Parts: sequence; structure tokens; C-alpha cells
Amino acid sequence: MLNPFRFSAALLTLLPLAFASTPILAQKPPIQITADLTDAPRKLYHAEIDLPVTAGPLTLTTPQWIPGTHQPYGPAQAITGVVFTANGQTIPWRRDDVDLYQFHLTIPQGVTTLHAHLDCIVTSRVTQKLAVLEWEKLLLYPAHTPVREISIQPSLKVPAGWGIGTALTPLVNGPAPAAGTITRYAATNVEQLQDSPVITGQYFHEFPLAPEIAPRHFIDTVSDAPEDSNLRPSVLAELNNLVREADALYGSHHYDSYHFLLTLSDVAGGEGLEHGQSSDNGVGEKGYADDAHQLREADLLPHEFTHSWNGKYRRPAGLYQPDFATPQQGALLWVYEGMTQYLGNVLAARSGLETQAQYRDMLAQTAATLDATPAREWRPTSDTAVAASLLRGGNSTWQNWKRGQDYYWEGELLWLDADTLIRKMTGNKKSLDDFEKIFLGKGGNTRALIVPYTFDELVADLNAVAPYDWAAFLHDRVYKINPRADVDGMERGGYKLVYKDKPSASERVLAAGSRSRGLNCWFSIGLRIGDDGSIGDVRWNGPADKARLAPGEKIIAVDGKIFSTEALRAAIRSAKGGTEPIHLIVQADSFVSTAEIDYHDGERYAVLERVDGTPAYLDDITKPLTKPEKAPAEAKKAAE
Ligand SMILES: [Zn+2]
Repeated sequence: MLNPFRFSAALLTLLPLAFASTPILAQKPPIQITADLTDAPRKLYHAEIDLPVTAGPLTLTTPQWIPGTHQPYGPAQAITGVVFTANGQTIPWRRDDVDLYQFHLTIPQGVTTLHAHLDCIVTSRVTQKLAVLEWEKLLLYPAHTPVREISIQPSLKVPAGWGIGTALTPLVNGPAPAAGTITRYAATNVEQLQDSPVITGQYFHEFPLAPEIAPRHFIDTVSDAPEDSNLRPSVLAELNNLVREADALYGSHHYDSYHFLLTLSDVAGGEGLEHGQSSDNGVGEKGYADDAHQLREADLLPHEFTHSWNGKYRRPAGLYQPDFATPQQGALLWVYEGMTQYLGNVLAARSGLETQAQYRDMLAQTAATLDATPAREWRPTSDTAVAASLLRGGNSTWQNWKRGQDYYWEGELLWLDADTLIRKMTGNKKSLDDFEKIFLGKGGNTRALIVPYTFDELVADLNAVAPYDWAAFLHDRVYKINPRADVDGMERGGYKLVYKDKPSASERVLAAGSRSRGLNCWFSIGLRIGDDGSIGDVRWNGPADKARLAPGEKIIAVDGKIFSTEALRAAIRSAKGGTEPIHLIVQADSFVSTAEIDYHDGERYAVLERVDGTPAYLDDITKPLTKPEKAPAEAKKAAE
């Protein structure tokens, strides 16, 4: 059956109609949901849900396609203990034979409220000291109804003494709730509730950011150890800068207030999931403890923050469906994620979360890695977006001959290309910043809502900044086979991608801060290799591939010595300019054999090199737009 709520192409061209995605709350009383996280340390979340019903057949569903994950990743497998009751009687249920996310029930005469209990087994983003609630884990609501039209009123119970961070609006403002009590939040709709996660933990902090900017911004942190969630003054100064820089770049907001939600834990794991009024971020426990760790995470918060504009407010039409059951279509992910990848890194540099030099080092890595991905000879970037749900996750075996979610990094190079082109065509008077104000600021400041767009609107908005054949520009770079990475933006920006025999300063900092360093020999012999000699991937058609090495094998010895990354590095160096191959002993499953890599060009590490006498647009792009705030200690030092 055709879904009448699906956007038609005609409707999408009419922005005022698209704005109708403002919450429309049905006349029925809202669903009441209480999330009970008091058992979170035992990996169980509980929900008590009261649904307004009428007698007759009823189909309820749990979410399947979760916005931002770009794949059908709903919690159906983890839901357990489902019991329906009404007027003191248990109501039987039956799962749908085809859509396994759906429950069918028959509501007896005289029943107006159905109670549902369910538990969700949660094994990630939860520890003894903290928990993250993405509401889709506990949601159950009528199927075949647009989720923005289902009214719901959430409540939350957390372990005694744990603080709560969320963009939801508490019904009662005041001191933190007493131990064991329930916090009630204002009614919203199922679409917005799914978009409003919660973090809670024993070691909770809420830091206001850039207080002069309206609406308000906060970073809420939880961690396993008390010191980790108490962020350094320098990090808070950089996050103040981030809020100011985003304000200057985008010139609009689409939220009532914004909360960066951040877990710092080696147990809870990494995360970066965008929401309209918040973001769910997870880093290691020392993620922001020092500059080396911070460099690894430099673009995380700017990236997820940018999604509030690009991805949440403005969303590709195919990625915005009326419910969480209709498959999302990823064709324009090179805008949703690719442009966010570009802007997130630019904002990281502008706000001081990384330096301009570090930005260039990371960009060199990105470009070189994409350039050394032979799968680009058969698969265009557009296909990595369309097939995103197939490519997400997975392991590294022959990844370079398959491609991953390359639309992120291809998008970064593409939008740098567009930015420098606009700067060149306008004598550096205009830039992609001007485009963002148009494209991401339609309607001015708004509350949280979703306004879908098409490829044609993107092209029209680019033309409004600088007339050009943008449709062909985008088509050539995204939809065609391009065997080489797009380095035009870097070169027009005054820098050239080159290979040196020593890693960049940033690469050395990252390696020093990493537990499992391995050796970066991807651009030389073509191997991803761990500290213990395990081969993660082999570059298709590279020197190690020609030596018949394979992912999953393990190098035991190099040139007669037991394997170590230093021994392999020394072998690559000593083979340079000679004729003698690098001799290896390799373990494959339970067999051992020898291999010879015929490679003589030495170590190769990607860096950007300034091309003298050309405009340095790349440096203009990463310069702050606002006056940067220094951390108190640094400001004091500078004043002395
Ligand atoms: Zn993203």
C-alpha cells in the first residue's frame, strides 16, 4: 500500500509545505512512557508505557530505521519481557510474520488505556557509573502513523544520586530530583523524543558555554572516574569558541537550547550520533585529558554540532521518512555526512580544538588514504552513499577493494574544492560560509524541525553565491568513476599533497597517544599492520599484494629477525634504492610460509606542502571568524 504521508517530488519543491513538519500533536491524550534506568549497571533498561486505545485490532511497533545511523538498527533483538495489560487483565499479542518489529493485539471493549511493560538488554554505552538512553530502545507506539503525529510524555528514573543531561524540557524546574524519584518532561512527539537522548551518571557535570549567545548551549559530561568528566579549562574555552564560531558561520539556530552530551569512559565505548537539540558523544576516559588524546577527537563535537543544521534541520528528502519503518535512502549522504565532515574539521580548527597545522596534517591523511583506495576504480562515491547501510561497520578485510563509507571523506575533499572555487571566482570575497547561511538558514531561527531538500535546491543555493555549472561540478566528482582522489581544493588552497620519509607532527602525536600503534606502511608496501604483526588489510595491487600477502595473516619475522614494527620499518628503509626484496616469514591459519616484497622506495608518509606564490585559501578557511578565547592559564601566560 502506498504511504500517503510520503513526500512527493512536487511537495518537496514547496518549502512552506515542508515546514508543515512542525509537531502536530493529535487530540488523543499523549502516550505516557517512564524509562527506568535504575538497573542500567546490570545492562537492563525498563519501560512502563500507557497508550490511549480504543476497542478492536491494534498494531504497535518498535523503531527500525534510526535516524543518523543510516541503517535499520532498531532494538527489536534486544527487547524482552514484553507484557500488555488492561483493566487488570493480560492482553495476548502476536508478532507480525513479516515485519518483526510489530506486535498485533486485540483491545477488548471498554478498555481506553493499554499498559505495556518491556525491558531492553543494553550492552553498550552503559557502565557501573553512567548510562546513555537513546529512547528508541524503549519506544512502542501505533504502527502506520507518522511519528511526528504521535504525542508522548516522557518520564525518567535513574539510580540514586546520578545527574541527568538532556535537551528535554523538565516539567518542574528546580533542584535536582531526590534519590529514587521520577523526573517528568514536557509532552512532545515520538519523532522528537527519539531525537532527545539522555545521559546520566554518578560523576555528572553541566557546563554552560558561550553564555552571551542565545539560545543557550551546554556540555553535559559523565565518566567512570570523577576527574575525567571535569573538563580542562582549555577545552571549555575551545568549546566556547566552537559555539561562537558556529553562530558566526551558520547565522541561524534550529533548537530551543543545545546540549553536547559526552561520556568519557573506556568501557562505554566511542560514539557520535547527531540530534537536533543535542548530540550523543562518547570518547575514551582520557579523551580530552591532554592535547594528544584531544587531537584524535578534535572534530567529534564540531561534527555532531554541525549536524543540528546539516542533517537534522536540512535533510535529504530520501533520508526523511514519515516513520521509522520506511527504509531511508542514502543517495545524498555525501552532503549530509560529507559536508558535515568538511565543516566539522573547519570548525575544529577555527575554534582551536586543533591547530591550523594539525588540520592540514589530518587533511593530508584523508586525501592520501582515499587516493590509495583502488576500489574507486570500479565504484563511484555515489554508490558508497546509496549502499551506506551495507558498508557501515564490517571488518577491514580487503576494505580498500570494496570501499567503506567514503562519502564522509570524499565529501570533505569535494566541499573544500567547492569552497576554494567560490573564493577564487569571487576574489576571496565569498566562500562556502555564504552558501551555508543560505542553505542551512532557510526560515531564519526556528525551533527543532526538519526541512527536506533535493539535489536541485543544493545547486540553486550554490548558484546564488557564485554562478557556475554546479550540477556538472557535483556530478563529475560524485557520480563518475574517479580513479584518483580530488586534490583540487587543496591545490587551489595553496598546498600540495606530497609523501615524505617521516610522519607529520600530528601523526607522531597520534601514534604516541595510541595504545595500539601499529606501523603506517599503507603508502609504502601497502599493509595495515598491528603491533603484533597481524595484517588488517593489504592494498589491492600494491607491493604486499603482489607478494601474495593477505588480510588476517601474521608476519612472524622480517629479514631474519622476529617481527616488531621497528624491525619492519628498518627493513623498508634498508631496501630503499636497492634490489634485494624484504624477506618475511608469515603465518596463515596454522601454516607458515615465506614471502618477498619487492619494494625499494622507502618509507612514505602523507603531508601537505605549501606552494609558494599561490593564495593560501586553506589558511583563510581555518582562521577564526570570532575573537578566540584562551584558557585562563594560557591567557595569564600571554599577559605576562
Ligand atoms: Zn555525521
